[in-house]
Amino acid sequence: MPKEKTKKQKKSPPKVQAFQSVKGMADILPKDQNWWRMLRQVGFSVSELHDFYFIETPILEPAGLFEAGVGQSTDIVEKQMYSFKTKGGDLVVLRPEGTASVMRSYLEHHLGYFASPLKVFYYGPMFRYEKPQAGRERQFHQWGFEIVGDGDPVYDGQIILAALSFYKALKLKNVKVKINSIGCRVCRPNYRQRLKDYYNNRRDKLCRDCKERYEKNPLRLLDCKEAGCVELRAKAPIILDYLCQNCNNHLKSVLELIEDNGINYEPDPYLVRGLDYYNRTVFEFYIPEVDYALGAGGRYDYLSEILGGRLMPSVGVALGLERIIEAMKIQEIPPHLKAKPKIFFAAVGDKAKKASLKLMQELRESNIAVAEALGKKSLKAQLKSADKQKAPLAMIFGQKEAFESTVIVRDMRSGAQETVVLNRMVEEVKKRLH
Ligand code: AMP
Repeated sequence: MPKEKTKKQKKSPPKVQAFQSVKGMADILPKDQNWWRMLRQVGFSVSELHDFYFIETPILEPAGLFEAGVGQSTDIVEKQMYSFKTKGGDLVVLRPEGTASVMRSYLEHHLGYFASPLKVFYYGPMFRYEKPQAGRERQFHQWGFEIVGDGDPVYDGQIILAALSFYKALKLKNVKVKINSIGCRVCRPNYRQRLKDYYNNRRDKLCRDCKERYEKNPLRLLDCKEAGCVELRAKAPIILDYLCQNCNNHLKSVLELIEDNGINYEPDPYLVRGLDYYNRTVFEFYIPEVDYALGAGGRYDYLSEILGGRLMPSVGVALGLERIIEAMKIQEIPPHLKAKPKIFFAAVGDKAKKASLKLMQELRESNIAVAEALGKKSLKAQLKSADKQKAPLAMIFGQKEAFESTVIVRDMRSGAQETVVLNRMVEEVKKRLH
């Protein structure tokens, strides 16, 4: 006797796709491209308004560039680089950030002859082997601004303003700048020592990572988020008390500039950065709704020297684009794009279909974007696609129209239709789109 079915039969588990994107690395799907197009449109426009030139560097770089530039004992270099040996035996990495690459390119191509200071911007993917979580991916995109070749605080101010213009153009609200100075070769060693002295007999209370940081990079003890370390920090010496006269004056000038420009800022004596190349001004951008930075940057006067060039005072910023999209979603700001309206071309019957490629080409050559679903036989199915794509107008081209050299223009919202002669098609479409 067949067993009685008492329970609902179990559904078979969903098929697992054989290949998935690498963990922490996301596809940017067509449905999300309006965000990315907007970021690029705004980015290029803001960059040009602020007189930055576009620079593109390869995604692969020699590993040594970041070991020297970003710093051997930083998290990025110690733990987060995707590195591999090429068939030729070179050790290369997927770039974890953009500044060292820009400086490499500057030195390699003597870009100081092109402009001084050189103001450039870059855009593209960066790679860090981090634990994926909210606001932290392994492949993420940055928009960066760099000003290479001048130490004047006016350039720190310009970089901060360029970043804020970017956020403003996207309509992000309540963006705040946290700012600090981390001194220079003259004053930082002294502060470093004071900091070590303070933590020396409190080391057992530090978290495991900070015990290591104590030895290698004691400034990083200040930005640890572990409760015990945060508590210890409260009584730690702050760098502002140890800045040399030049660093003090520099910071004062930068703060005056940003105050003059009505910028919402907060001095943060604990702000340090995870990359070794920074000196003097460091800053990060925040909105109140999330506790990760939307962007960060600072001055890096010694990077050129570290990479074998001469002293080249410079300042820059990198804005995380995935975090910007997240922030816009949280603040309920839709992607605002001046998207081209797209009209839809429907054709029924062999003769009409055959002629339709030429007609669509004519429209496109007049700068009108055209969508179609010519593979579907019926007019109804094609118009359904037009609806789905939210086309404001559909052109309907059947046997009769092909024979009479006309085409029907249908307003997809009202359903109103009008027949126009083919040699007036482009003008009639343009008239209706404006
Ligand atoms: P950094 O290059 O570390 O100074 O980072 C600059 C900005 O890039 C940060 O403020 C973030 O907005 C963004 N960013 C850095 N790391 C990540 C990551 N793993 N995932 C997403 N965004 C990131």
